[in-house]
Amino acid sequence: RQLAIATPTRTKEILQKYDFMFKKSLGQNFIVDTNVLLNIVDAAGIDENSNVMEVGPGIGALTEQLARHAHRVLAFEIDQRLLPILDDTLSAYDNVHIHHQDVLKADVSALIDEYLPAEGGVDVVANLPYYVTTPIILGLLKVPRIDSFTIMLQKEVADRISAKPGTKAYGSLSIAIQYYMTAEVALIVPKTVFMPQPNVESAVVHLRRHEQPVAQVDDEEFFFTVTRASFQQRRKTLWNNLTSSYPQLKEQKEAFEAELATYDIALIQRGETLSIQDFANLSNILKKYVQ
Ligand code: SAM
Repeated sequence: RQLAIATPTRTKEILQKYDFMFKKSLGQNFIVDTNVLLNIVDAAGIDENSNVMEVGPGIGALTEQLARHAHRVLAFEIDQRLLPILDDTLSAYDNVHIHHQDVLKADVSALIDEYLPAEGGVDVVANLPYYVTTPIILGLLKVPRIDSFTIMLQKEVADRISAKPGTKAYGSLSIAIQYYMTAEVALIVPKTVFMPQPNVESAVVHLRRHEQPVAQVDDEEFFFTVTRASFQQRRKTLWNNLTSSYPQLKEQKEAFEAELATYDIALIQRGETLSIQDFANLSNILKKYVQ
C-alpha cells in the first residue's frame, strides 16, 4: 500500500505536483499527521458497516482513512482545483464518491439517498473549514439520516457546543445543538498537525443524536427564538432580556412570574443558569403571554 497522504512529505509532494496554492478564504488547513486522523476515525466509532459523509476532503487525507475503515464515503468539496488531485490520491478506493458543491447549497438528504445505501444512519466525519463551522453544523442537524458528527473545529466553538449550564461557554449555540444531540469534546488537537497551521487551537467534538427528545417543546422555532433572546445580553437577568424582546410582558408580570415559579424558574436568574428543560418550560409558558 502507498504511504498515507497525511504526512508532511507526501502532502508537500502532492501540493507541488499540482502547483496547489492554499486558499485561506476556504479554510484550507490540511492535516499532516496520520495518528490524529486515526484518533478521529476511532472517536467516530467507524467500522466496516459505517456510511460516512465528509465535508471538505482537501487532498484526501481524512477521506483515505475513512475509505479504509468505513463501508462507503460521500464527500462534499467546494474547490474545483482539488477534484483532479482527489482523483489521483484516492484512485485506490472504489467506495468513495466526491461531490463538487458548496455543502451549504447542497440538497444533502437527497445526495445521501443517492450515493449511500438506502438503509441505516450516516456518520459525519470532517475537519471543517473554520469560517463556516456553525452554519454547516446547524444545517446538517436537520438532516434526519445523520446520527452522529465527529468534527474538528476551533476549540473555542467546541467548548461552546459542549458547554453545560452555569458555565461561561454555555449559550444559545450549546442549546441549539444539545437539543438534538449529546455533545462531548473527544480530542484537543495542536496547531502543529496542520499545513498551513491555523491561528486558533482546535478540538474534535463528538455529537450523537438523542433517541428521545430531551425536552417537551410545543413550538421549536419559538423555543430557539426565546433561547437566543435570553442570552441577548449575558449579564442581564431573564426578565430584562425577555422584556426587551417582548415589552408586552411588563403588564403581565405577576401571572407570568407565578406560572414560571411552578417550574422553579425565577425572573432574576440569568439565561446561563437554565437547562434545556428549563428553556422548554419557559418557552411553552411564554408563548401564551406574547402570541
Ligand atoms: N479534510 C482535509 C484535511 O483534513 O486535511 C481538508 C480540511 S480543510 C480544513 C477544509 C476543506 O473544506 C477544504 O478542502 C476546503 O476547500 C473545503 N471547503 C471549504 N468550504 C466548503 C464548503 N462550503 N463546502 C464544501 N467544502 C468546503
